[in-house]
Amino acid sequence: MKDAVTSTADALDIAIVGGGLVGASLGCALAPLIQRFGWRVAVVEAAAIPATPQREWQPSFDARASAIAEGSAQRFQRMGVWQKMADEAAPIRQIHISERGRLGVTRLSAAELGVAALGHVIPNAWMGRVLHERLASLALEWHCPAQVESIIPTAEGHHLRLSDGSELSAALTVLADGGRSGLKEQLGIGSHDKPYGQTALIANVAVSRPHDGMAYERFTDDGPIALLPLPGQAMGLVWTHQGGKEKELMALGEGAFLQQLQRAFGDRAGRFVKVGSRHTYPLSLVTAQEPVRPGLAVLGNAAHALHPVAGQGFNLALRGVTDLVESLESSARQSRGLGSMATLQDFEQRRARDRHNVIRFSDGLVRLFAVENPLLSHVRAAGLVGLNLAGPLRRGLARRAMGLER
Ligand SMILES: Cc1cc2nc3c(=O)[nH]c(=O)nc-3n(C[C@H](O)[C@H](O)[C@H](O)COP(=O)(O)OP(=O)(O)OC[C@H]3O[C@@H](n4cnc5c(N)ncnc54)[C@H](O)[C@@H]3O)c2cc1C
Repeated sequence: MKDAVTSTADALDIAIVGGGLVGASLGCALAPLIQRFGWRVAVVEAAAIPATPQREWQPSFDARASAIAEGSAQRFQRMGVWQKMADEAAPIRQIHISERGRLGVTRLSAAELGVAALGHVIPNAWMGRVLHERLASLALEWHCPAQVESIIPTAEGHHLRLSDGSELSAALTVLADGGRSGLKEQLGIGSHDKPYGQTALIANVAVSRPHDGMAYERFTDDGPIALLPLPGQAMGLVWTHQGGKEKELMALGEGAFLQQLQRAFGDRAGRFVKVGSRHTYPLSLVTAQEPVRPGLAVLGNAAHALHPVAGQGFNLALRGVTDLVESLESSARQSRGLGSMATLQDFEQRRARDRHNVIRFSDGLVRLFAVENPLLSHVRAAGLVGLNLAGPLRRGLARRAMGLER
């Protein structure tokens, strides 16, 4: 739908809608190109972010943390933010995968693969803070708090109206709004939405003994439980349940909650002694039907929201950030328009296979472990034991977990 728009709009090369983990990463990754080509880039973020963050970072006990693959750490390194992120990162030295009621256990270790870490766990709040500090030092425009209220295709790209009254026009608009703001729908971009009927309960827990960099993934009848090592003796819990069941757990007091967790998880990580505030996320597989259009690219959760079972969503998105920046650089060298379909098809070609593989891998894992079938349980256990025995297959899984395999 094309519409008449005012000509007073501020003309940009690139408008990034959403300054969450993905939009902020894109802003940082564009820095060398902004400098080289003199592009005008703006990031629009709806949520207010303190202009002067507290000098001392207080790690709050209720923060969500993400497993960052080694490949993502390398990308952050190239953006110049890894050194600071690493201050609050815990390395994953081993991954322990098990299934309740079955014998199969798989262990993947960094030492065996000859790497220092299989990945890193970083509180999202810290990643956000480091990325925003970096953005503030770059020559790009920052509209915050401001919400993109309307987005209209034009001959030159897109015209954006912001809640603070400003208007922008951009040759390329990158939708990194998380997919829930209604902008995709405004543009008529449909989504495939497959609800899993599951909810993830997130909390930080303190454990009675050092985790030694061990990450756990335990498949139970209710759904997978992941425990990620955090700096110190804390771990990030992602506890998946059939939708509705999490309400009981949310209502429990701390002692009763810890007891239930201990019962479901066992004592392989030690005793759970404390839990921070709990949050829930309903889980679906959502994919945008059109990841690119003339003048528009869809990134991050707006393009693909995955089940967190394999900790792949943000890692996949970060590879999308790198691919987009590479496509834009090659377009600029060939004097092609940033929003041209030649540029965006090049980007989509780089993305499609990786996205397909990761979605198939995460979705397949959820479905494999969700099916109530005694025969399948044996296959799963055999699969886990098989992974333990079969070196190359297990190494393939580890390389994917590290973000080194597409
Ligand atoms: C329980 C759980 C655990 C996870 N664990 C992992 C993990 O371990 N590893 C991993 O790789 N991934 C993980 N993920 C996935 C990861 O969290 C997402 O991939 C990531 O948060 C997506 O970031 P985003 O920037 O695309 O979206 P969001 O984080 O939703 O950010 C979107 C931003 O856009 C802003 N915005 C929205 N609408 C507008 C508008 N109209 N105008 C301006 N701004 C707007 C919002 O304020 C927000 O800041 C997990 C996900 C869940 C649910």
